[in-house]
This record gives sequence, C-alpha cells and structure tokens, in this order.
Amino acid sequence: GDDAADTKTYVIATDTTFAPFEFQNDAGEYVGVDMDLLAAIAEDQGFKYDLQYLGFDAAVQALESGQADGVIAGMSITPERQKKFDFSDPYFDSGVVMGIAESNNDIKSYEDLKGKKVAVKRGTEGFDFAESIKDQYGFETVVFDTSDAMCMDVKVGNSVACFEDYPVLGYGITQGNGLKMVTDKEQGSSYGFAVGKGENAELLKMFNTGLANLKENGKYQEILDTYIQE
Ligand code: GLN
Repeated sequence: GDDAADTKTYVIATDTTFAPFEFQNDAGEYVGVDMDLLAAIAEDQGFKYDLQYLGFDAAVQALESGQADGVIAGMSITPERQKKFDFSDPYFDSGVVMGIAESNNDIKSYEDLKGKKVAVKRGTEGFDFAESIKDQYGFETVVFDTSDAMCMDVKVGNSVACFEDYPVLGYGITQGNGLKMVTDKEQGSSYGFAVGKGENAELLKMFNTGLANLKENGKYQEILDTYIQE
C-alpha cells in the first residue's frame, strides 16, 4: 500500500451479532464471513484495522459521522445508501425473507399478518421492507437493535413474524433459533464494504483489490465454505 496505508490503523465498525457474517464463537472471539474476509483482505493488502462491534444502525451512524473509516456488517448496497457512502464491489447476494415461529401454523402469507405484531431491526433493509408493506397488510412493527432480540420476540410469540436477510435467517434456523420460513425471499441487494462518500478511497481500493485476489486464489470460497453449507 501507499505511505498512509502503511502507518494508519483504520477503524472498521460492524454489527454485534449477525451470524454467519459476524458473531462470537465459543471462545468469545468474533468470527464469520465478514471477519475472515476483512482479515484476509488486510493481510493481502497490508493494512491495519481496529474493529468496533457497535450494532448495525450504530455502525452506519458512526460511518456517517466520520467516527469510523469503514463498515463491514452484511451491509446491503442500496441506492439510498449510495448517496451517503461509497461501496466496494459486492461480495455476497442477499434479500429479505419473513421468519415465523417453528410452532406457528397460522401464518402462511403476508395477508395473515393482519392486526398482528411484526419484529424488525432498526436501520435495516428488512425494516424498510416491513414499513413498505405494513399499511397494505395491516400489521404493526416492533423495533429491535439486534437480530437476536428480534428473532427472540418471534420465538416467544410476542411478534408473529420478523423480516431478516435470507442467509442470516437461514443460518439461524440451521442453528436451532426456533424459527422457520414459509414464504419466498424478496428481491434484495448484495452486501458491500462501505466507506464515507469521497473518503478513504485508498481503503476502498485495497478492499476491492484484495477481494479480487481472494476470489482468484480460492480463499474467498474457502471462507464461505467455512460458514455456509448448501
Ligand atoms: N443487510 C441488511 C442491511 O444492510 C441488514 C444488515 C445487518 O443487520 N447487519 O440493511
């Protein structure tokens, strides 16, 4: 990298728990696709970073206010966000899907949400999707700051459904979070690494170059295979 990149330690903000992208293993260490990808890219490109586990909405706000240099948090590349942030090349395809309790046999479509509570996570694509259809289907939203709290609200039956990213809900279900999917996923955006608009161009360039190198040498696929089984 250049001189700035050789000496600088970038502050990268992320979510608290968003498995399989960032979560703590049994030893309390943060692991996941985003964590491993960032580590491998930094090694490939020779830059240093400090991770801050702020939660999704707080991470995005830290980036917006300049307290963080970048965000990696399963962050969807949306046209709205592209007005405020510069994104890397996409590194993972996603999309929002509805989750309901495993034991619930009453909810089969969005129509069945009428008069019910739906859990959402602040500042996410799932939040925006729920808001966009809630008047049409006549449900109320309950807002949480973490995916765990949102899913728990559905599991215990306070909310009848939540809207979460497909790969995250799918992973949670395989880990026994007590939820299931009964509808198709919505068309969604891909995940990208974000920096402030017009800021940290050298970091963004290193991310893209490192990502391309990892795709080329098989390391990218190796990281995905570590966490995501088909
Ligand atoms: N992909 C979603 C978004 O960008 C959710 C990200 C997250 O909760 N970490 O809004």
